Amino acid sequence: MDKNFPLKGFGSAAIHAGHQQDPNYAHQPPIYASSTFIYDTAQQGMKRFAGEEEGYIYSRWGNPTFTEAEQRISALETFQLNVEAKGILHASGMAAISTLFLSNLKQGDKVLTHFSLYGGTEEILYKLFPEFGIEAVIADLRQLDKVEDIIKNNKGIKMMYVETPANPTIQCVDIEELTKISKKYDLKVACDNTFATPYLQQPFKYGVDFIVHSTTKFLNGHGTAIGGILLGRDFDFMKTKATKVQRLLGGNSNPFDAFLLTQGIKTLEIRMDRHCENALKVAQFLEQHKAVSKVNYAGLPSHADYAVAMKQMKKAGGMLSFELKNGLQGGIDFMNKLKMCVRTVSLGTVDTLLCHPASMTHFGVSKEQREKYGITDGLIRMNVGIENSEDIIADLGQSLK
Ligand code: PLP
Repeated sequence: MDKNFPLKGFGSAAIHAGHQQDPNYAHQPPIYASSTFIYDTAQQGMKRFAGEEEGYIYSRWGNPTFTEAEQRISALETFQLNVEAKGILHASGMAAISTLFLSNLKQGDKVLTHFSLYGGTEEILYKLFPEFGIEAVIADLRQLDKVEDIIKNNKGIKMMYVETPANPTIQCVDIEELTKISKKYDLKVACDNTFATPYLQQPFKYGVDFIVHSTTKFLNGHGTAIGGILLGRDFDFMKTKATKVQRLLGGNSNPFDAFLLTQGIKTLEIRMDRHCENALKVAQFLEQHKAVSKVNYAGLPSHADYAVAMKQMKKAGGMLSFELKNGLQGGIDFMNKLKMCVRTVSLGTVDTLLCHPASMTHFGVSKEQREKYGITDGLIRMNVGIENSEDIIADLGQSLK
C-alpha cells in the first residue's frame, strides 16, 4: 500500500497498516523463522550493532514478522489521533506487562491500581514485586474524589495502572479523569486495553503514556497464539529503556505467533461489531431470566459504570459476567449442560467461551477472598462469540433450565 494514502476507516487500517512489501512479492507477510540475521561484511555487522545501520541482528532483539504486527497495532492504537506510538511485541500479555513495570519502576516505587485486575497482573503486583521492594497501592479508582488523597498519602507512587473494562466484574474506570489527576502528580499512566481493543477504546486519546495488550485475546481473535504488546508514546524511552528490558528479560514473541496475530487483526473491526451486538442481546436475555440474579455488562444501563463506558468506548465489548441464583452448585450444573458454547478460560475468540471462576480459575482462593473481588460462587464469565446470537441464547436458555 502507498504509505501516503490516507486511510479513512479503522477496518482498512487493520488490514493494511504496517504491512511491509515482501522483496519477493509474496502477498502475505513471510514467517521469518530465523533466529539470527547475516551481514555482508564484518563492517556491516559492526554498523548494525552500533545502531548506525537499520537491520535485524537476532530474533530476541527483533524480527520482520514482529515488526509487521508492532506497526499495525501501533497504527490502530493511534488511528486518527494526533499522536504516535512505538510497540514492542512480546511472548505474552504478561511479558509485556513485566517489561512495562520493570522498565519504569525501581526499588521503593509504588503503583496505584484499581482492585479489579487480571489475576496474573494482580499476582505480579501483590506477590512477586513486594519481594523486590516495589509495592502496589490498591484502591477503588471509580471513586475519583478519593484519588488525590491516596496519591498524597502514599509517598513513592510513580505509576497509575488501570485495566478497563476489568476482569471479571467488567468494572470500568474513567481513563480521562484518572490521567488528568495522575499528570498533576507526575505519574506515568498505563492502561491494559485487552478487553476493549483499539477499535472500541483508544487510551492514548486521553494522554495515557503506555498501553498493554494480551494479543492472545481479541487482537488475534481465533485463540491460535499467545502474545502481548507494550506500546508507548515516548519513542526515546521505548527505543532505549523499554527495548533494553525486553531484550534482557527475553520476553520476545516468535515468528509463527506473530504471523497468526497479523492475520487475525485484519478482521478486528467486523468481529468486534458482532461481539458487541451479540453481547448486548445476550445481556438483555440474561437480565430478564429468573435463574440469574445479576448481569455485569458495560452496555446495560443497570451497570454501575455504564456512563463511563459509554463516554470512552465506542460500544461495550464482548465480555460480560452474570450471577446465578443457585450459587456454586448452580454454576457447576449450568456449565455442564452447555452444548455449543465452550467451557474454558481465556477470551476474545470467535466462539463463545464460558468460565466459572469459583470452580475453575479461583478454585484455590478462599470464598471470603474471592467475594472481596466480586467473584461470588455463582458468577459466570462469558466471552460472547460471533456465532448467530439465536444459537448462543438457545444454548444458554437450555443450560439455565
Ligand atoms: N490482561 C488481561 C486483561 C488478560 O485477560 C490477560 C489474560 O487473560 C492478560 C493481561 C495476560 O495475557 P497473557 O495470558 O497473554 O499473558
